[in-house]
Amino acid sequence: MIPGLDAAFAAAGAAGWGAVAYGRLAPAMSPAARERAEEACPCPAAVLVAAFPYYAGNRPGNLSLYARGRDYHAVVTARLNTVCSFLKEHYPGYLFLPAADNSPLPEREAARLAGLGMMGWNGLVILPPYGTYLFLGTILTDAPLPVEEVPPSPDCPGCGRCVSACPGGALGPDGFALERCLSHLTQKKGELTEKENALVAAHPLVWGCDFCQRVCPFNDHPALSPLPEFTCGLVARVAPEDLEGLTNRAFQEKYGAYAFAWRGPAVLRRNLELQKKKE
Ligand code: SF4
Ligand code: SF4
Repeated sequence: MIPGLDAAFAAAGAAGWGAVAYGRLAPAMSPAARERAEEACPCPAAVLVAAFPYYAGNRPGNLSLYARGRDYHAVVTARLNTVCSFLKEHYPGYLFLPAADNSPLPEREAARLAGLGMMGWNGLVILPPYGTYLFLGTILTDAPLPVEEVPPSPDCPGCGRCVSACPGGALGPDGFALERCLSHLTQKKGELTEKENALVAAHPLVWGCDFCQRVCPFNDHPALSPLPEFTCGLVARVAPEDLEGLTNRAFQEKYGAYAFAWRGPAVLRRNLELQKKKE
């Protein structure tokens, strides 16, 4: 690739990275996703994809481990921006667009095609020693980077623990059923069906679900993240009294920098209420 690029990703805090030609990734994208990507970058040539570790230990709490730290969209994008600055020095005049979980690019498929880590049955990228506790980020570019075609990431060993542990039955031989995933349901706005209510009520977390990660053998003793945004000043638990009397604005002032706050306080209050009724 480009001399110094490995070091630039490492300095940005990435535990690993890879690259894939846009032409290889595009068939995995919907027409609408391609349109959006190509509107932002009219002559896309490549996607760089990087993994940022977030594991900060296993303190008890009712928020998913990924959501306890600073909002990863902003953190990962800012960190990737430093890599973009490096690349712009080598490719002046070209576009380098960083994103994390908020772009039309299918990040996990980009990681798979770039040969990054392993692809878990739980749908997550596994990258020892960090296990699955990773945020993915991408850089879309029109620069003619020398991207090598590498073999795609292998699948995980398929022990099946994640499938057995899934409380909503969202993982199975037919793939992933979003509508039964507790991570999705705890973040879903508005009215839930009776069945969804029951699933959330029986769940120990008010935001997210770590079951399919906690049981994965690659997460037995994951390495701690070196990134302070994901390891310092964490909020592990939200109790009803923490939200009492908070307007949306006050909630954003108190928690807006955290990854669990983007839906506002209403879904958290609903989930807390459902779980209280069950007690
Ligand atoms: S996050 Fe929870 S509900 Fe969703 S697939 Fe994993 S174990 Fe199943
Ligand atoms: S729990 Fe087993 S099957 Fe699931 S992702 Fe981890 S290694 Fe793969």
